[in-house]
Amino acid sequence: MSATHDVIVVGGGPSGVAAAVELRRRGVRDVVLLDRESELGGATRHCSHSPFGMREFHRVYLGASYGRRLQQEALAAGVDVRTSHSVVRLGDDGELLVSSPQGVSSLRGRRIVTSTGARETPRSARLVSGDRPLGVLTTGALQSYVAFHGLMPFRRPVIVGSELVSLSALLTCVSHGARPVAMLEANARATAKQPLTWLPTVLGIPFHRGAEIVDIQGRQRVESVTLRRGEVLTSIACDGVLFTGRFTPEASLHMLSGLGIADGSGAPLVDQYGRLQNPLYFAAGNVLRAVETGGWAFREGRAVGRAVAEDLSRPASACQPVRVHFDAPIKLVVPGLVSSGDRMAVNAFRHFQLRMTCAAVGRITLLLDGLPAWQQSGRWLPERRILVPMPPGAPDAGRISFVFEEKA
Ligand SMILES: Cc1cc2nc3c(=O)[nH]c(=O)nc-3n(C[C@H](O)[C@H](O)[C@H](O)COP(=O)(O)OP(=O)(O)OC[C@H]3O[C@@H](n4cnc5c(N)ncnc54)[C@H](O)[C@@H]3O)c2cc1C
Repeated sequence: MSATHDVIVVGGGPSGVAAAVELRRRGVRDVVLLDRESELGGATRHCSHSPFGMREFHRVYLGASYGRRLQQEALAAGVDVRTSHSVVRLGDDGELLVSSPQGVSSLRGRRIVTSTGARETPRSARLVSGDRPLGVLTTGALQSYVAFHGLMPFRRPVIVGSELVSLSALLTCVSHGARPVAMLEANARATAKQPLTWLPTVLGIPFHRGAEIVDIQGRQRVESVTLRRGEVLTSIACDGVLFTGRFTPEASLHMLSGLGIADGSGAPLVDQYGRLQNPLYFAAGNVLRAVETGGWAFREGRAVGRAVAEDLSRPASACQPVRVHFDAPIKLVVPGLVSSGDRMAVNAFRHFQLRMTCAAVGRITLLLDGLPAWQQSGRWLPERRILVPMPPGAPDAGRISFVFEEKA
């Protein structure tokens, strides 16, 4: 027989810690927080730079100290923290299979919150051809080398990508003795906002827009890469390649366990309370939608924790939510479900969060039962947060959809 806990939170990054602490604050007695790493903090604890924690703790932390603060918050709130515990299966009935140094065991939760974060797309999934030398990494791997082993694996890498995390990669390089020889962005413009994207220029590092890496050369270590700009191929000498960003939700647990993931986001589908179609399960943070900041993940975790605390006061009942529909170039909408019955006092999600697959100019309209409830025209950029307030009438609608009309 496995022990039954009030709530089990899977993943101890900002969103999982915030959910667990909020549950304890709201009087939930038995909250277990599981993380596969040896300490809490999630992706933040690998970051040797700031800014973290401004909104939630009103001070600026470096990533590693922010991670420690999260761990202190969880312990001080009386959360039962179990690190080095990997969840390997999520059962339909709330039973989790957990692997730890003590072996494999089962735990059962009356409710489960998954907050397993997101991961960057590595070389293999980007289909970059060529040799397989040492020195090809993602930002997360680089930051682990630096933070936990004091190692800098290259001196003159090429950085691929121009998201916020790409700038984090750039800062990690320059603050640890490496000098990137170039930054590359496949699109015509940088993904992160100005003035952040001025950073490479300020540091004197060439920033190639509209350039894609197509091949890596090197016998043992990386020696050069081939870039394609339109039809033109050029070679850059370097000793490493840093693939940054293009995050995808860490949702393999949901997929393998049969809870399912959505097209577009690659994430579990939740309703306005953060609840999956299986009403024992909730989710928060970057597992819902790659990718947001630490502060955003924290607030989302807290809001979902509040909803779970309320939900615990009644039996879990299967909800029949309405699916939110959308068309390209809209890439994802979170929440992707809206429940009507069984309402809670406050939504965990007060907005629909949208992302686009590519830059587009035109009008986004939210339709409830075919009638416009919100619309806005503009130039929409990929990976930028778009927030649409959830109308009070959304839970009563039989059909909810977002449509995009391109400006001629
Ligand atoms: C390189 C980098 C730089 C960044 N820089 C900044 C910055 O400067 N400022 C900022 O605000 N944000 C920054 N971010 C973003 C921020 O780190 C994330 O938004 C935040 O960590 C997301 O929190 P989360 O709780 O959703 O997920 P994560 O922090 O990713 O936490 C997920 C946790 O789940 C655990 N987990 C996953 N699967 C399992 C499993 N099966 N069993 C048990 N545990 C599991 C993982 O070990 C991890 O601890 C950065 C991110 C990266 C990668």
